[in-house]
Amino acid sequence: MTGLLHHLLKTGAVDGCLVTRMDRERPWAAEPFIATTFEELCASQGSRYSVIPLNRLWSEVRQRPGRYAVACLPCQTHGYRNLQRRDPALAAKLSVVIGLYCGGSLEPTLAPEMLAVRGIPREALADFKFRGGEWPGQMQAILKDGQVRPLHYSNYKDGAYNYLTSLYMPERCQTCLDGSNEFADVSVSDAWTRDEKGDYKFKAHSRLLVRTPRGADLVRRAAEAGDIVLQDVSSDPSYRTHKLQTRRKGSLAPLRVDRWRKAGRRVPGYDRGLPEDATFKERLAERLSSALLRAGKWKPFRMAAMGFLTSRYAIPLVKIRLYLKKRKYARRARASAPGNQPQ
Ligand SMILES: Cc1cc2nc3c(=O)[nH]c(=O)nc-3n(C[C@H](O)[C@H](O)[C@H](O)COP(=O)(O)OP(=O)(O)OC[C@H]3O[C@@H](n4cnc5c(N)ncnc54)[C@H](O)[C@@H]3O)c2cc1C
Ligand code: SF4
Repeated sequence: MTGLLHHLLKTGAVDGCLVTRMDRERPWAAEPFIATTFEELCASQGSRYSVIPLNRLWSEVRQRPGRYAVACLPCQTHGYRNLQRRDPALAAKLSVVIGLYCGGSLEPTLAPEMLAVRGIPREALADFKFRGGEWPGQMQAILKDGQVRPLHYSNYKDGAYNYLTSLYMPERCQTCLDGSNEFADVSVSDAWTRDEKGDYKFKAHSRLLVRTPRGADLVRRAAEAGDIVLQDVSSDPSYRTHKLQTRRKGSLAPLRVDRWRKAGRRVPGYDRGLPEDATFKERLAERLSSALLRAGKWKPFRMAAMGFLTSRYAIPLVKIRLYLKKRKYARRARASAPGNQPQ
């Protein structure tokens, strides 16, 4: 994403990019800002699994001259596309929407609570990384004295983060149906694609899904200028991922939206209804995940859970997860070996 934004800035196609970073004064909190230089863009790089009020920037854009690009989550794109219809002058200033995929964000209370649980005083903090270090990264506290303190065992993909989403996901995310930024010009996701042995095929790569002619034009120009490097994976046989996301947003969230609407709660309006083939198992899974998320609203519960998940007592849990994954991929490799294929 940063490569695409850099291309736009460098070529003068835009005067600024609406992006995010950790607040310099309060590094446990994230903030939106308009990047106008390469250095500022570099500071915005990386995923922040936290709700960040990007809407705050629209009034600034209205007042400033020039053209802009925005990097945003699917719900922020929905908001912007609605705004665009009502405010053509603002819409004319925004030249491209580069959208992140999104499986769900986390409440901004996560970072300060994690620091408290790990006994790190906020005053000692210089930066908070959601995915610091080697890809796929892990949550880290960077201290003012230069120390890098990992906040949990293992990495983003297998460590505590996986469980924290079950406690810290905001209500809005629990009703969200858009995982792939359907209204962006280009959608960008992690490339979690694995080979048959279970090893990642594209470490530290991002996957681009071009959605509009404007997006296609940007990607082509950025590649021609050498600001991004492209590899076509459209016909890759192991291009099967985001299964969990499809389940969460394709079946669990619509069930929840329907249930909440019937209960008189406010829910987003979608042009998509309830899946007709929702099974008993899916309805039960939705109820269970909703119950856990409700429990996460109670601070003593989520702090106790966080204390466990980020402690050494959770290491066996992560190791079992890794073992099960390894076994699954070994089974797949055996099944796809020559001789085991159906004739
Ligand atoms: C909350 C969240 C959930 C995500 N869920 C998934 C998922 O389920 N599956 C998947 O494949 N990918 C998901 N992503 C996207 C993924 O983590 C990468 O951000 C994406 O692949 C782009 O990586 P990159 O290295 O190309 O981007 P980079 O070059 O690192 O740029 C990232 C851009 O995203 C912006 N950004 C970071 N955090 C936020 C935020 N909270 N709100 C708005 N803008 C932000 C930054 O300002 C920056 O411009 C999610 C990202 C976030 C923030
Ligand atoms: S899950 Fe949906 S509502 Fe939540 S941050 Fe992602 S796009 Fe927005």
